[in-house]
Amino acid sequence: MKTTPSEPLPAADAKNALSEENAPDNTEHSTGVYMGVHEDTSTGLSKQLPAKRVFPFGIYIHWPFCKSKCPYCDFYKEVRKNVPQEEIVNGYLKDLDFYHRLTETKTVTSIFFGGGTPSLLEPQHIEKIINHISKKWKIGTDVEISLEANPNTDRPNLFADLHHAGINRLSLGIQALNDRDLKFLGRTHTLAQALTAADEVLHNFDNHSVDLIYARPVQKLSDWEKELAQTVKLGFRHISLYQLTIEEGTVFAAKGIRPLAENAAVKMYDFTNDYLHHHGYPQYEVSNYGFPCRHNLLYWQGDDYIGIGKSAHGRFRVKDKIYASTHPRNIEELTPAERAEELVIMGLRLNRGIDKQHFKDCCGLNFTDAVNPHRLSELVKKGYLEETSDNICATPKGFPVLNRLIEELCC
Ligand code: SF4
Repeated sequence: MKTTPSEPLPAADAKNALSEENAPDNTEHSTGVYMGVHEDTSTGLSKQLPAKRVFPFGIYIHWPFCKSKCPYCDFYKEVRKNVPQEEIVNGYLKDLDFYHRLTETKTVTSIFFGGGTPSLLEPQHIEKIINHISKKWKIGTDVEISLEANPNTDRPNLFADLHHAGINRLSLGIQALNDRDLKFLGRTHTLAQALTAADEVLHNFDNHSVDLIYARPVQKLSDWEKELAQTVKLGFRHISLYQLTIEEGTVFAAKGIRPLAENAAVKMYDFTNDYLHHHGYPQYEVSNYGFPCRHNLLYWQGDDYIGIGKSAHGRFRVKDKIYASTHPRNIEELTPAERAEELVIMGLRLNRGIDKQHFKDCCGLNFTDAVNPHRLSELVKKGYLEETSDNICATPKGFPVLNRLIEELCC
């Protein structure tokens, strides 16, 4: 089923739209919640049976604008001289109203401003979006509100202003810790600017993260060791480290730039995991270390979220139905098998793997019914996966070949 509803309902009608009657406080840990639901003609979503439990719920806000295009980047982004921020934000508020009618009894446990470069969005607009969300939905007492920032801002006091606007977790995209590689990556900031921004982030926020890209073709393991030591010394609570890949359609691909040789990249990956483990940043996901990002856990665990903005998408349950959404306001129902495949792909990225009960709650299928059972037992026997009665996860032997494991399980 695919629907493209047009305008939001008036507030009074919206009250009746897919409302979850008698729904208690649906916090992250609540279970066994039964809810009623009404048919709603504006959304095309039909009346459903009660669901068994409720889940964490996040809102992703995509700000697609950047100062310039980095040559490795294959995300959707736009570079414009004048961005009509107010107009776009007002459109976002209408989209939020639309999705609110589908999810109104959920409690927001995380909000994430991603990009593009959301630190180019004026803090007053960020505050407006956060206030709008908090007027519409119930907000969890310990809600995480993250924003991705680049160090290339000319705006004085940006980080203090972002904190004042309601952001409580700041993720800083430094990408490299030397000027040669920043230049290679086409970043528009210098190392000195990155370090100043890092100081300001650490000064203004209690919860923070830093992103770097490694396995650059110009990088040796000894260079990376130094950068990693420097990264740890900065003292962020969370570190995201992505290996450089050369994606089709990027400037790097057009220039014929080749990625680092696979065995050198694997060595860097192993070194990185080991180093961070011994320096207080345990790996919890393929590319993520330290104090987990609550919002990103939603994706990996298969929880509910909506997405606002050009390349944002969502996954959310209304009763026992699962929906996928894309911009602008396109909603499609997913079958349990379609959602199950996504959950395998995402869940095995986590070091702790997939909780079988949670998997069933998310898609309605048992894990063993959702994958190829013969391949599963072979992969367990060969030591790539570890299975207990409650859980399934990749072993240290399986993690480096995760994509192949997933392909085998899902075929
Ligand atoms: S990497 Fe980030 S800053 Fe660079 S073009 Fe992509 S979205 Fe924009």
